Amino acid sequence: SKGRSRRHIVMAPFMAQGHLIPFLALANHIHKRTAFTITIATTPLNLKYLRRALSRDMDRAINLAELPFSSSHHGLPPDTENTEALTLSQVAVLGMASTSLKAPFHELVKKIAREDGAPPLCIISDVFLGWANEVAKLCDTVNITFTTGGAYGTAAYATVWQNLPHRKLKPGEEEFSLPGFPDSVKVHVSQLHQFIREADGTDVWSRFFQSQLKLSGESHGWLCNTAEEVEKCGLEVLRNYLKLPVWPIGPLLPESMLKPQSGTTRPMGLATQRAGKEYGISPSRCVNWLDSKPERSVVFISFGSQNSIKQSQMLAIAAGLEQSGRSFIWVIRPPVEFDRNVEFRPEWLPDGFEERVASQGLLVRQWAPQLEILAHKSTGAFLSHCGWNSLMEGLSQGVPIIGWPLAAEQSYNSKMLVEEMRVAVEICRGLDGVLTAEKVTGVVEMVLGEEGRSIRVNAEEIGVKMKAAMRDEEGFEGSSIKALDEFVAYVTSRAEP
Ligand code: UDP
Repeated sequence: SKGRSRRHIVMAPFMAQGHLIPFLALANHIHKRTAFTITIATTPLNLKYLRRALSRDMDRAINLAELPFSSSHHGLPPDTENTEALTLSQVAVLGMASTSLKAPFHELVKKIAREDGAPPLCIISDVFLGWANEVAKLCDTVNITFTTGGAYGTAAYATVWQNLPHRKLKPGEEEFSLPGFPDSVKVHVSQLHQFIREADGTDVWSRFFQSQLKLSGESHGWLCNTAEEVEKCGLEVLRNYLKLPVWPIGPLLPESMLKPQSGTTRPMGLATQRAGKEYGISPSRCVNWLDSKPERSVVFISFGSQNSIKQSQMLAIAAGLEQSGRSFIWVIRPPVEFDRNVEFRPEWLPDGFEERVASQGLLVRQWAPQLEILAHKSTGAFLSHCGWNSLMEGLSQGVPIIGWPLAAEQSYNSKMLVEEMRVAVEICRGLDGVLTAEKVTGVVEMVLGEEGRSIRVNAEEIGVKMKAAMRDEEGFEGSSIKALDEFVAYVTSRAEP
């Protein structure tokens, strides 16, 4: 640098909803605290999504830069640039294809450096886009990895992909320890999703994850969307695994969800922050419906942006909910047997179900205003696939979790919630899990009823801690605010001539 102070951060998120949303939140958060210029670089269709999500005043300071990408060049269907548009096996192809963004990203950073008269302060790249580390070196800047997952889940996922410990199991053995984790932590083979169970280091998934995770492990430090006091054990293992600074700077959630009393107020306008998506129901209708229900009485069911369950499992959920008589909001997606964009088909649900539960439940097609629902005081339990964003959205509002991990690092998230945080019950595991209506009724009753008291209290406490971590007031700086300042001090000192 030529003595100019560097005030520009370039970001590269992975092309998935669960990554774009926290990257955008991180960009806003850093900008608000530092007034640095931020550029987020992504592919054309993801850029369009970000542009719509950004169309509010406070986001004007975030620049968007397009990285050319053509899915069909990589053997993917045309115009599929986000995991949401793809089947799980195509996601590995998208992963591999994302490495092609390295060259245009390099050009972009060079252009920014020319325009600014100095290289960016740092490149913040997704844990899946390890190649950004090589670009940072070429451009004489620092690379920081951002994991949109939690510390425990990220550490477990990374260590499993890097070491494939389950391949060392002897016949008959079903549990293994995780390299880098305390010996007391045992993973059961049923907690590995299909791709990793079958991985041997030569398949597309292994090749993608192993190469990118290795590079991300060689960056200068990691940002993690979690909080020190919420994930003590997870942060310890992640630091131990990486031997790098890890700054827990989360949970990155809209401000209205981080107010001490958000669970008892009506957080309006959250939906507009997801303006990039069409909702299957208007947020206000959802909120009005919730208003009519007693406090902490409603079960919310959503499997995130890319996962679905089997038709038979949907039928079991429906029957179980109906038997329980409990109120619910359920995001209905095509079951895995169907193309993910097909219109609703009656056979996904029991005969006459919708009419019978008309006053008991809300069925939302495709995409729900999840934040409004979780922040509403009537929501009492969240049946979730344990995607990290969903978990933080729910737990920050004190909502206990009914876990059904389906993919990625979700089974480790669920494990931590059950064993460490004690805020969850696992109802099912993976797509092959057997689910009965009785099980659904039983677990829902457990979590909402007398027996669930302690997990409800624990969830409430975690929520308080999460909010405190992000509190930024005269006389009080939460741990995640301090960690952000430490991160800024670190990159700033590295950039000094
Ligand atoms: N989401 C939403 N409406 C839905 C489903 C998901 O707004 O109907 C949002 C949810 O609030 C979360 C994100 O999509 O922010 C999903 O991220 P997560 O990490 O939970 O799971 P992923 O989609 O990455 O598996």
